[in-house]
Amino acid sequence: MKSVRTLWFAMLMPLLASPVALAELRAVVGGNVVDISSGDILKDAVVLVEDERITAIGRRGEVNVPEGADRVDASGTWLIPGLMNMHVHLGLILPGKMEAELANESSGALALRMMANAQGALEAGVTTIRMPGEHARGDMAVKAAIEHGDYVGPRIFSAGEYLAITGGHGSAPGETFADGPYELIKKARREISRGASWVKILISGGIATDGGGIAEPLMTPEEINAVVDAAHRFGAKVAAHSGSSIATDVAVDAGVDSIEHGYFLDRDILRKMKKQGTWLVPTIVVSQPASEPFFTRIGSPDWYLERRNSTGEEHWKMLQTAINEGVNIALGTDQLPQEPNDGTTATAREAQYYVEAGMSHMEALQAATIQPARMLGADADIGSLEVGKYADIVALSSDPTRDIKALRDIRMVMKGGEVYRNELAR
Ligand SMILES: [Zn+2]
Repeated sequence: MKSVRTLWFAMLMPLLASPVALAELRAVVGGNVVDISSGDILKDAVVLVEDERITAIGRRGEVNVPEGADRVDASGTWLIPGLMNMHVHLGLILPGKMEAELANESSGALALRMMANAQGALEAGVTTIRMPGEHARGDMAVKAAIEHGDYVGPRIFSAGEYLAITGGHGSAPGETFADGPYELIKKARREISRGASWVKILISGGIATDGGGIAEPLMTPEEINAVVDAAHRFGAKVAAHSGSSIATDVAVDAGVDSIEHGYFLDRDILRKMKKQGTWLVPTIVVSQPASEPFFTRIGSPDWYLERRNSTGEEHWKMLQTAINEGVNIALGTDQLPQEPNDGTTATAREAQYYVEAGMSHMEALQAATIQPARMLGADADIGSLEVGKYADIVALSSDPTRDIKALRDIRMVMKGGEVYRNELAR
């Protein structure tokens, strides 16, 4: 018969074992590591990962791979930081067939759909997303489930529910939304208290609302100023949906952190954004030919397609001007990161569009990695492959600094030291 002491010891063992357990060691061996700031490539390297973070990067032979470390053979691939997509609605519903099918979606069904979309995003190499507007608190449920390790998905920064005004973009005919500074502040504070690190305001018209000009500056300066001030006091950042130079001018003066889409922004306002350091999240893919099959697939109505098509040319010119003026750009798609577009994902196609509009391959790669990390204020943890940062690593079959189309062939996805997709042997 076991003594009481032995039983106690047996019960305590698991508790005692955890704090002194050895760290999980992993070595990604043989890959060519891309320095995201300089574009330099460290060939045939070893990236050492302890638990979630990178502890060493160096040439093979110079970095000692500890015995017992799990080896990931990444020979012949290029290693870049995990991709980041700054305009993602995991619970996206767009007008048309899609909207009709999801009309009575319960919050449970919504959460499951969002969770599946989150997993798909991660598998597409996107290890961090920012969500500028969800509903039924699905974003916070998904974020918590991922952070708790129950489900698989990217790191999430969310704005909670977006702030729309009555009659404006994102509202519904005949229904009242938040109006005036105080109602908007109240909603902003509510979302922040629910865990939102961003606040999303819809300050101009948009494509997805039937009627009204996309470039109309609908939210008043008083309203914009009030929300930005209130959000910043809580340490939250503010993203503004805007197609309008007039509305953007007010938002930039108010200190808004990012402008979403920017469809009709002119050179003067883009210069002002550059001067103030305001970020642009172009979501160019939604107005360009690559996404046309997507809108057909989801059964978009004619009025939607007309509004989209009427925006494409100006949106493209705006992006070219923004790149030319050196505006800070962080990649975002307004489609699911993994959504098929032109034989690749929306994320990879968006980056490719940046090059077609005037960025160098390296700049487009930065817009998909370190630039979003800077915009989020999270560049101490993510956005580049450096000692101390999270081991969010994507392996590509070719060199993305020479051709951004390399993002089309992803061989491995690691987030926080865990491998979530592995086609390295292929
Ligand atoms: Zn959006």
